[in-house]
Amino acid sequence: MSNCIFCKIIAGEIPSSKVYEDDKVLAIRDINPQAPIHILFMPKRHMSSIMALDETTSEDVAAVMNAIVKVAKDMGLSEENGLRIINNCGPDGAQSVMHLHFHLLAGTKLGENIV
Ligand code: 5GP
Ligand code: ZN
Repeated sequence: MSNCIFCKIIAGEIPSSKVYEDDKVLAIRDINPQAPIHILFMPKRHMSSIMALDETTSEDVAAVMNAIVKVAKDMGLSEENGLRIINNCGPDGAQSVMHLHFHLLAGTKLGENIV
């Protein structure tokens, strides 16, 4: 998508702090971190939100989830210390970048509000 900021990051046209990459997934540090660990995981193939999940995109989304768990484990995260994964979708979900991404938040005791 020509005017998608995350597609530009994936294409290397905009710099980012890369944490993980494979053929389907890119993970970068959030530019405005909300926790000591705040990483954005996205499929390299553009899809606007989780509501674009279907039989043609499910492999990409599964690859994103696998990458989240791999990176989390590599960082020493576990059920014992904990983490949070967030996906915002559309206006009511306060999604600001319309390229599917998941937030991995960890490294501190997160608030109990919302969910
Ligand atoms: P959303 O609100 O769509 O769920 O999350 C978008 C996230 O992308 C926000 O947390 C925001 O800080 C982050 N973000 C927006 N632009 C950039 C950017 O150019 N680089 C990086 N690394 N993060 C960005
Ligand atoms: Zn995109």
